Amino acid sequence: MKFTPEKYKIEDKPMHPFLDAEEIQDYLDNTISTPEKVRTIIQKSLNKNRLNLEDVATLVNTEDPALIEEIKEAARTLKRNVYGNRIVLFAPLYVGNLCMNNCEYCGFRASNTNAKRRTLTKQELIENVEALEENGHKRLILVYGEHKKYSPEFIAETVRTVYNVKKGPGEIRRVNINAAPLDIEGFRTVMESGIGTYQVFQETYHKDTYATVHLSGKKADFDNRLVSLDRAQEAGLDDVGIGALFGLYNWKFDVLGLVRHTNHLEACYNIGPHTISFPRLQNALEYKVRDEYKVSDEDFVRLVAILRLAVPYTGMILTAREPDHIRQQVLEFGCSQIDAGTKIAIGAYAEQYKKGQELDKEQFFINDERSLKDVIEDLVNQEYLPSFCTACYRLGRTGEHFMEFSVPGFIKRFCTPNAILTMAEYLEDYASEDTARKGWSLINRELDKFEDESYKKRVLERIEKIKAGERDQYF
Ligand code: SAM
Ligand code: SF4
Repeated sequence: MKFTPEKYKIEDKPMHPFLDAEEIQDYLDNTISTPEKVRTIIQKSLNKNRLNLEDVATLVNTEDPALIEEIKEAARTLKRNVYGNRIVLFAPLYVGNLCMNNCEYCGFRASNTNAKRRTLTKQELIENVEALEENGHKRLILVYGEHKKYSPEFIAETVRTVYNVKKGPGEIRRVNINAAPLDIEGFRTVMESGIGTYQVFQETYHKDTYATVHLSGKKADFDNRLVSLDRAQEAGLDDVGIGALFGLYNWKFDVLGLVRHTNHLEACYNIGPHTISFPRLQNALEYKVRDEYKVSDEDFVRLVAILRLAVPYTGMILTAREPDHIRQQVLEFGCSQIDAGTKIAIGAYAEQYKKGQELDKEQFFINDERSLKDVIEDLVNQEYLPSFCTACYRLGRTGEHFMEFSVPGFIKRFCTPNAILTMAEYLEDYASEDTARKGWSLINRELDKFEDESYKKRVLERIEKIKAGERDQYF
């Protein structure tokens, strides 16, 4: 993969704020989209080259519907050629909603006296993890407000607790984190508990807008958050996730912001973000999304396709904030991870919870409330292969998304077989008869596609072991 960085006004240096709003705006104002340019850029991406800011500005400035369709089609092609048809499933688990910040858009903000505050006790955490394991989950992201109670030691302790919960055949094999940014020492402490990815979303890369929605608390410091994942890298935690909360400011600006951030991490640490998230702003308790920067469904789908082309090696995460029909479209562009069976009210996995009665416990409102079982069935019906794979992380194959993208045959050798094996486990342990029937037939169709007979035999041997009761088989 080739990436020739542009020269930016602010030179990239580790731990130094790098974002120049005027420069991003200049790109947006002075880049003209023509069919020739768009097609050249699309080709550049399909040839596995990273796009620079000017390229991305050209794509976001494309308004001709036919050309936008070409951009989306290119993202679909990239998905087909590179990522295969597996979709990794995970669940978010909210550990606590105490918060000292005042992010205007979030139900957990300190000034929201109507939010019921709660932190799961160790026992409650265990019960919630058990409930998730009973459904078949293997990968979690733990989410926390920003509060002195949620120290690095506290976070690390919750991670260790989660890994120790084993319910029946269930276990959690990968824990990711979405929490406040830490100092270097703090990142090290959390890393040592064995986490996968640490996510910190910048929310918006437009500093002036950022200041108007982050009214007080540590998070109000834009630059401190901007370089927080540099601190993670300095601590040796190189598996980081970035994101923007679309709807706070002009989406085109924030798409460029995400790419600029990616370029900064690559320039300073030679490793880009493992994942990019693009949550779209939702109504929350005592917060209603304003119309000014609201991102329409059309623009949202378009921005995901552009991000796919801009940073082709990165995992893209889509969440239950989006309704099913948007999920369907965006999956075609190579979103490699989605959450499933999501409940974001604190403690809700273990407790009887009826939407409408206890909304005050939620951070924001979600749009896809299907159970894990339903999501799996829907994926199978659409020929996607659900995956709970955690192999790369556990075998120390770091930068797995980069490898999927750049190592020929990586998907065939590792991702598809591991998706098949984790799906086989799921079908054996958790699926209804009907899902199991459909799931096994999908697995068989996948096996038929194997070109290497000896490799197929190795996968089949492992499937037999799973059928005989062995678990956690992977390549
Ligand atoms: N407290 C930590 C922080 O702010 O980084 C981590 C947890 S916070 C609950 C996780 C993410 O939720 C935020 O980074 C933000 O992007 C997202 N979020 C907050 N309010 C939202 C809303 N109303 N709609 C959609 N996403 C929201
Ligand atoms: Fe707190 Fe995070 Fe919500 Fe902001 S987004 S109020 S920091 S939980």
